[in-house]
Amino acid sequence: MSSISLGGTIGIIGGGQLGKMLAQSALRMGYRVAILDPSEDAPARATCHTFIHAPFSDFESLKQLCELSDVVTYEFENIDAHILRTLVHDYNVPQGAETVLTLQNRDLEKAAIQAAGADIVPYQKVEDKDALDSFIDAHGLPVIIKTTTGGYDGKGQMVIETEADLAEASIPFDEAEWVAEKYLRLEREVSLTTARSTSGQVTHFPLQENLHKDQILYRTIAPSRIDYTEEAKRAVHQIMEAMHFVGVFTVEFFIDRDGRLYVNEIAPRPHNSAHHTIESCSISQFDAHILALLDHPMPEVRQHQQAIMMNLLGDDLDRLEDTLFSQPDWHVHVYGKTGRKPARKMGHVTLLTDDVDTTLDHLEQKFIRGV
Ligand code: ADP
Ligand code: MG
Repeated sequence: MSSISLGGTIGIIGGGQLGKMLAQSALRMGYRVAILDPSEDAPARATCHTFIHAPFSDFESLKQLCELSDVVTYEFENIDAHILRTLVHDYNVPQGAETVLTLQNRDLEKAAIQAAGADIVPYQKVEDKDALDSFIDAHGLPVIIKTTTGGYDGKGQMVIETEADLAEASIPFDEAEWVAEKYLRLEREVSLTTARSTSGQVTHFPLQENLHKDQILYRTIAPSRIDYTEEAKRAVHQIMEAMHFVGVFTVEFFIDRDGRLYVNEIAPRPHNSAHHTIESCSISQFDAHILALLDHPMPEVRQHQQAIMMNLLGDDLDRLEDTLFSQPDWHVHVYGKTGRKPARKMGHVTLLTDDVDTTLDHLEQKFIRGV
């Protein structure tokens, strides 16, 4: 049972939409919330008791957040290693430092997943053009190259389909570290969201089926229409044996055209593909994260109804904003970000349905982006 009483403070590093939705769960349960974020108008500023406006690299401000919190968590993964290790040593940060530090770096992340015994797509760290050429000689085209750190929503990625792409690509090997990965012809992408409490109780959410466009999550269907739940759970358990997890985390998987399942990457925090859980499940991923951090017993998750979640990027919001609330069955989430950009995640909508195919047709017409 938690040693943190009602009215205790949960500190969250990062005040984007994930921080906001985490805060909403914590507030509902009766906890206080403190948030640190570099942006003055961070979405979670509206959902906390204390807001610290500071960069993630500001050690003193992070210490201030920890001082006023009974337990500290993060929605932002790229915290400096030295700072994070010190915070973990001095304050109550149940997630620890080592897992997130491994997952910050795609090269270390892939090595850890492989060492855990799960299948991953062939990859190699490539330090220069010669290394990339020899990776391509060994595995063929197409390949995708990704920066080892700092990438998200397809940022820092480049697909090389042909020899001509390769000749034209000017990859800044001096400015960043890169991994090359075999680019799969995907049959499907799925993800499994799991929560583990500090004392080790585990609960899983339903397997999610994800469609990306331009490397950004476009929509999620839960439960996935193809059932790889047992295979995915097996991989997640292998990963949990090898790495320390507390709180909610999501493993993203690829399924290739031969039906093989590969782990793509792991997010040690709430994940976009599990936003549907707010409406469709007995507890949301955000509830699960708070319960797990505080070491409350983990409930078994039940899904009430099938769900479809569509992301609202800036250009979707431009098109749909006037009619968002004309669809009474849309559960609308708008994060409250001030700077709207075409490919920026501004919100999402979730629909519960007994007929996924019909609902998908209806949604596709509204969300067509001409891609
Ligand atoms: P991010 O950190 O930006 O989420 P990912 O590695 O998950 O990076 O890549 C984003 C998306 O790009 C994936 O969900 C998938 O749709 C596509 N992608 C990435 N790597 C591959 C690959 N090796 N083969 C096929 N598609 C890929
Ligand atoms: Mg991803």
